[in-house]
Amino acid sequence: MSKTSNQSTDGGTATVLTAPAANGTAVIEVKDIGKRYGNIIALSDVSTSVRAGEVTCVLGDNGAGKSTFIKILAGAHEHSDGSLLIDGEATTLSSPRAALELGIATVYQDLAVVPLMPVWRNFFLGSEITKGVGPFKKLDVDEMKRITKDELAAMGIDLRDVEQPIGTLSGGERQCVAIARAVYFGARVLILDEPTAALGVKQSGVVLKYIAKARDRGLGVVFITHNPHHAYPVGDRFMLLRRGKSMGDFPKAEMTLEELTSMMAGGAELESLAHELEKTMGPDSEVAQTLKADVT
Ligand code: ADP
Repeated sequence: MSKTSNQSTDGGTATVLTAPAANGTAVIEVKDIGKRYGNIIALSDVSTSVRAGEVTCVLGDNGAGKSTFIKILAGAHEHSDGSLLIDGEATTLSSPRAALELGIATVYQDLAVVPLMPVWRNFFLGSEITKGVGPFKKLDVDEMKRITKDELAAMGIDLRDVEQPIGTLSGGERQCVAIARAVYFGARVLILDEPTAALGVKQSGVVLKYIAKARDRGLGVVFITHNPHHAYPVGDRFMLLRRGKSMGDFPKAEMTLEELTSMMAGGAELESLAHELEKTMGPDSEVAQTLKADVT
């Protein structure tokens, strides 16, 4: 492993102890991973991998366990069962910083930006570049603006002015700045928490383009979504979650968009139907029982 000095994305300076992996190499492998909160089983028997230069999509409806899964990979929660391998070594991530130091960066839906601050300030928030020493130390504004512009351009993001407040950008553009930032600060794995959930079709398309860009730059991307139409065009691997359980982990070659859509829609539809029937006909009715048996 080579040592590269890079700054973390959560502020402060961290040293990333990892070199970029060759495309196709598994950076993260999860095997039969599970998470219990007291006696609630939020996730069980989930297996998949995140490979350099590939996009792993994690699909599931509300309550399926997507957030729990991200939290384990991001170091926010420790897993209770199974194993998490990073670069082939069994690991337990004890904090988000530990994950970052291994090059795993997470972009959450709320993005944690300061809306009134310029784009470049948000890009370097907590990891500002300074010049001079001691009492003469000051922010190197020109350098930070230059890097922000260059990094955004490298991702194909053409902003008119990095001086404009980040709050004036569209939701899609803000996601893209967050992605570019994570790439610049040395991420090898980028976890995106439902980046297209609150966006319209056009803006979702823009975000999907940057997901593909990050992948083309050799990052392993974990793309969380409940929309198979967003997942399929960029995904190399699909892991479906339902009620905390994995319904399988499929490489793209083994799954068509129609199959992915029907697995997602079928599950959700049957589940809500069973629920409705239970409400109207009582939990013991034969038809509700049959539907329930189908979804489990
Ligand atoms: P998703 O992100 O797919 O909507 P979650 O991972 O948030 O799903 O939730 C999966 C299941 O785990 C849900 O049933 C939820 O109630 C439960 N769960 C999540 N976090 C906790 C927690 N901190 N304590 C207890 N149960 C939790």
